[in-house]
Amino acid sequence: MANPAISVVIPVYNEEAGLDALFARLYPALDKLGESYEIIFINDGSVDRSAAMLAAQQQARTDVTRVILFNGNFGQHMAIIAGFEHVRGEIIITLDADLQNPPEEIGNLVAKMREGHDYVGSIRRQRQDSFFRTYASRAMNRLRERITNIHMTDQGCMLRAYSRRIVDTISACREVNTFIPALAYTFAQKPAEIVVEHEERAAGESKYSLYKLIRLNFDLVTGFSVVPLQFVSLMGVVLSVLSALFVVYLAVRRIMMGPEAEGLFTLFGIAFFMIGVLLFSIGLLGEYVGRIYQQVRQRPRYLIQAVLDSTETKQ
Ligand code: UDP
Ligand code: MG
Repeated sequence: MANPAISVVIPVYNEEAGLDALFARLYPALDKLGESYEIIFINDGSVDRSAAMLAAQQQARTDVTRVILFNGNFGQHMAIIAGFEHVRGEIIITLDADLQNPPEEIGNLVAKMREGHDYVGSIRRQRQDSFFRTYASRAMNRLRERITNIHMTDQGCMLRAYSRRIVDTISACREVNTFIPALAYTFAQKPAEIVVEHEERAAGESKYSLYKLIRLNFDLVTGFSVVPLQFVSLMGVVLSVLSALFVVYLAVRRIMMGPEAEGLFTLFGIAFFMIGVLLFSIGLLGEYVGRIYQQVRQRPRYLIQAVLDSTETKQ
């Protein structure tokens, strides 16, 4: 089989309830484009029937379907990287398995890529997530925009198109904790964005708990910026200057007005605030150090159990 024009990479984690609906919309949408394509599903260690359903689908559409089965849950971004390492197409599309990203938008992404862009991001027209998710992520988006050099209107939308060159560069990076849309942006020469529809999750629940979302946002910030560290140093400088002034004030006061013993709770207040700032700063440092540690251990980023592939050019 010659290399396809389009590769679609889809991470799947416990999506049994929605997979049939995804197949029913994804394949017709791609067939309609009239271009050669391949779809790579990565099963990220699902514990439900997802793996079996993907295997059956691979049998049903062997010509265009490949499945990578992970040996555990390594996270959405690692799943996509594994997909990137196996793609053969010229334009690579990522999307979620839960039908929040309509497969019918793939044609628009491809058209934009053909205008000469090497990276096409997307902006969700009307985000269909919970109130908290929508606003919390908008705030994070704004913060990230200020402290990194990455310009994305809507960082959370995974429905994106990448050129083969960018995907190969991402595969060559050995990053353990990463955020693919941001990483791709740093390699893009001519990025663009288009507006896409967004739907409610077709079935099942979000695979991101609040904890996982916080971790993901730390990956995004620590992976692409050291501004938080510099901010902590600056805060240290400002606090030192303030406390130096305070000491001078107390000394002068001691000479002019005599000793003072009041203000004990004010002192506590200030001390507790400082302890909070300190703990936060140590934790922040830890986020960076922990990532360095994971990186230097050089363990495999993910384990592949099997690759289901019946196309001629086996890898
Ligand atoms: N996903 C994954 N591994 C994980 C978590 C999620 O492969 O550990 C997949 C999931 O199956 C879906 C996509 O990543 O295809 C996005 O997940 P989800 O829809 O739960 O995220 P949300 O839309 O709530 O941000
Ligand atoms: Mg989703």
